[in-house]
Amino acid sequence: MLGTGIIKGLYITAKNLVGSYHDPRRLPTIEYPEKRYTLPENFRSFPFLVYDGDDANAGLRCVACRICEKECPPQCIYIVPERDAKGRVQKKPKIFDIDYSVCMGCQLCVESCPFDSIKMDHHYEITATDRFEGLLVHLDQLAKPNSYFHQIHPADAAEIDARRAEDKRKAEARAKAAAATKASAGTSPAGASHTGTPHVETSHVGVSHVGASLAKPVVKPAPQLPNPAPRAAVTPPRTPEIETDTAGQVTTNSPPPPQRASQAKPLHAPNAAPPAATLPNAAPPDAPPPAASPPDAA
Ligand code: SF4
Ligand code: SF4
Repeated sequence: MLGTGIIKGLYITAKNLVGSYHDPRRLPTIEYPEKRYTLPENFRSFPFLVYDGDDANAGLRCVACRICEKECPPQCIYIVPERDAKGRVQKKPKIFDIDYSVCMGCQLCVESCPFDSIKMDHHYEITATDRFEGLLVHLDQLAKPNSYFHQIHPADAAEIDARRAEDKRKAEARAKAAAATKASAGTSPAGASHTGTPHVETSHVGVSHVGASLAKPVVKPAPQLPNPAPRAAVTPPRTPEIETDTAGQVTTNSPPPPQRASQAKPLHAPNAAPPAATLPNAAPPDAPPPAASPPDAA
């Protein structure tokens, strides 16, 4: 029917006009900042550091391994590890700065962190009057509690907490088993020798424990190799013998040396002079001199 398309277009326009006044999903704007959108969990703005418990200094998950610093494409992370009185590096950062004016929110630092220490924030209202120092965020500003991480990334935070708890439980069980083995080894008969080598392991959550393998080491027999193929008989080198033939020439039975390519086929000298042209009337070089005419008979 003529004009059907026009009628459909007018219907959609009227529907949007009326719906924009009462349907929240179709409101083109909200009254920001009084009202805000609920951000999806995977929204990301800038990185922050997670700490457990109430003490940001004691509970910081970051061990200053500097992996994120190396992985950051625009190199906007700067880390200096803490050191003790003897100058030994500690597993915590002394300085941890991120330049938000350079950060592009790629999340590669989060992906590369093996300790679930650095995560992406939902906070995007960041303004500063100084774009250099004002957007350089320091450790005390970056550190945020795990409860905040649960608030903005609930599913991710719950999965990480469960994994860390499981790792910690396994590490404690291993430490307990190692302690029991050590205690039983201390009560073993005198003279018993232990050939196991103690080793120290560090779990994912940074809990160290000492393990000792006290069992007698199992010596595995050397693998049997298949019979090797018979080796080709090696002909001893022929000793050259020097002889003198009947003509007094020195001869030898040693094989002649291999002929080099340069000897087998002489190279053409590009700049060598061409052979001299043979003049047609010239006497052949080896022609005998003309015979002298016999003297006239007297
Ligand atoms: S945030 Fe993670 S990757 Fe970066 S230094 Fe700390 S522990 Fe290492
Ligand atoms: S989000 Fe990307 S650019 Fe920003 S600090 Fe992490 S790795 Fe660097």
